[in-house]
Amino acid sequence: MSTIRFRALGELLSRNPISVSLPSKKVTEYYGELVFNIDAMRQYLSSEVFRAVKEANTSGSPIERKIADGVAAGMKAWATERGATHYTHWFQPLTDGTAEKHDGFIEFRDGENLVENFSGKLLAQQEPDASSFPSGGIRQTFEARGYTAWDVSSPAFIVGTTLCIPTVFISYTGEALDYKTPLLKALAAVDEASVEVCQYFDKNVTKVNANLGWEQEYFLIDESLYQARPDLSLTGRTLMGHSSSKDQQLDDHYFGSIPERVTNYMIELEYECHRLGIPVKTRHNEVAPSQFELAPIFEEANLANDHNQLLMDIMKKVARRHKFRVLLHEKPFAGINGSGKHNNWSLSTDTGVVLMAPGKNPKGNMQFLTYVVNTLMMVYKNQDLLRASILTESNSHRLGANEAPPSIISVFLGDEVSRMLKKIVEEVGERKMTPEEKTALKLGIGRIPEIILDNTDRNRTSPFAFTGNRFEFRAVGSSVNNAAAMTAINAAMAVQLKEFKSKVDRLIEGGIKKDEAIFQILKKFIIESRPIRFNGDGYSDDWIIEAEKRGLTNITSVPESLSRYLSEQSKKSLIGSGVMTEKELEARVDVEMDKFTMKVQIESRVLGDLAINHIVPTAVAYQTKLITNVQGLRDIFDKEEFETLAGARKSLIKDISEHVSSIKAKVKDMIDARKECNIIKDHTEKAFAYDSKVFPYLNDIRYHIDKLELIVDNEMWPLPKYRELLFNN
Ligand code: ADP
Ligand code: MG
Repeated sequence: MSTIRFRALGELLSRNPISVSLPSKKVTEYYGELVFNIDAMRQYLSSEVFRAVKEANTSGSPIERKIADGVAAGMKAWATERGATHYTHWFQPLTDGTAEKHDGFIEFRDGENLVENFSGKLLAQQEPDASSFPSGGIRQTFEARGYTAWDVSSPAFIVGTTLCIPTVFISYTGEALDYKTPLLKALAAVDEASVEVCQYFDKNVTKVNANLGWEQEYFLIDESLYQARPDLSLTGRTLMGHSSSKDQQLDDHYFGSIPERVTNYMIELEYECHRLGIPVKTRHNEVAPSQFELAPIFEEANLANDHNQLLMDIMKKVARRHKFRVLLHEKPFAGINGSGKHNNWSLSTDTGVVLMAPGKNPKGNMQFLTYVVNTLMMVYKNQDLLRASILTESNSHRLGANEAPPSIISVFLGDEVSRMLKKIVEEVGERKMTPEEKTALKLGIGRIPEIILDNTDRNRTSPFAFTGNRFEFRAVGSSVNNAAAMTAINAAMAVQLKEFKSKVDRLIEGGIKKDEAIFQILKKFIIESRPIRFNGDGYSDDWIIEAEKRGLTNITSVPESLSRYLSEQSKKSLIGSGVMTEKELEARVDVEMDKFTMKVQIESRVLGDLAINHIVPTAVAYQTKLITNVQGLRDIFDKEEFETLAGARKSLIKDISEHVSSIKAKVKDMIDARKECNIIKDHTEKAFAYDSKVFPYLNDIRYHIDKLELIVDNEMWPLPKYRELLFNN
């Protein structure tokens, strides 16, 4: 018997770790060598052009055509010296992943001489024939023009022989068709609103950056086993598979020593990242077997996100060189931990202050408090928007599903900061503060840094946790573009800060002193946002009940969650901040709804095929073996002996029949349900229909398959099992 599974295992057994041979240099010697960064610009651009680009970068002002020509010429010279023959506008359409269309630098000059050319026009803007990307109805196929335009704030880089230019992707009529455009707008909005608030504390602040440090979790699976699992290769996750007797119970993988084959993969991955200026720093084993994490030093959010997009691409490429496949899916295996991409988020000023970190003096700490409290209010008011920005089909298996934490958004502050907020509210109350109280409070706030340094409590079950100098949004999925979450958070924060500022200003206009006015508003916000604060176990059943009492939302359905993008509050945050127009927002929801439907549809088809073509025939073949065996027993033994000997086998035969019948009936019902849903034209309505009518079959059918896996002869089982997939690094 040679099942695919045994062939795959055989191939794996003959495999040694693939060695890496990298130049023996220090990271600093090759860091960023494939990036057209400040150093490269200084060398390849005239001083006039260099200054103009730097200026555009800080002020966001547009670049003139003449300057763009200068940049293009310098970029081309730099890139061709490093072996580049092509260039591409690299963009982030509303699919999973990035898009690129390579064009050679070559062109004929005067009709005959072949030259290498790259003009400012080609650098600044292009019109790729990108009519197949989702637009949510913004573009009709007969008016399919979409433009890519250079994002000056993110440097160009070389991959292979191609110069990649980060760009936005917009429609002919100017609507965003990608993830980057709204992110850039949200970052500009939070910059503007934050600078105004910072002016209360420090007049020198002229720019506020949002920062992002992502922690990327992933699984590494042997290539031959991966290829023997059509569900993994087509959907990114296992649609069936009984759990391994041993998986993560002993916690022996977390922070364990990294297997040699995996270490070699990581070394090469890090090398590639560093050459591309991605500052990856941390690597370790994660909780689940075969699960790992990679994290960089945080950067400005737009650049950080470009780097994460690029990273996911490199991870896949390098994995193939090592005969691995990398799984970025949020829940590739049932029963063990899934993968996320924690988004560490903070705001910082051009005066070098991290606004989510305690300050050096009482004034700095008032500012810190202002940002913490406004973040609380932002999350409290925008729970549904935050969830909508991260709850995708694949992430829904990791959030709100069986064995996953509930889909409730709450904020963990830690005991010390919580106590501080309590003090402000309770000791000061509703009356005006006495001068003594003010001093006491300021002194108290002055003590925050010491307190936080001592405050090592870390709550790993909180979806939005304060971790000393930043907030960590942990509900983001491992496979997604962070821009959706970062757009939501920063846009909502911009609106929140504006609201705070206008409330404080109104009090000041009424004659109240600035400090007092800020205190009064913060106090109100602390009280109002109280329900969102939760320091307990976010995974417990008690929390579900408690959260409901507090009026927090708990939405597990993806279409339901997505439809909250259109709630009044979400519109206030996204449209009110100028980040999206109503049309863009509606288009985005339409695209995300359709994505959900497509993913469920694909999973349902793959599961149906595998169930009928792989599982049922195998189960029936084994059952036939059992039947032959029972018939043989009957021939040999007398009736009485036969009954005792064959009893167990007969009941197995029956069990197999029952599971096979259930699988067949349910697959048929699932196909009928799909047909019913497929008639629906409206994307939102269709997503809801798929969610309630098709989605549940995925687990229903799986249940029977997993039972059969336990019964059927190991040698006959056609798919690699969990224990084989997860313990073969
Ligand atoms: P942990 O697993 O303890 O949360 P990691 O080191 O894995 O920590 O990841 C923390 C991430 O947070 C890193 O990317 C780090 O650079 C980033 N980070 C640290 N400080 C800030 C900050 N002020 N703002 C944004 N990100 C930050
Ligand atoms: Mg973390």
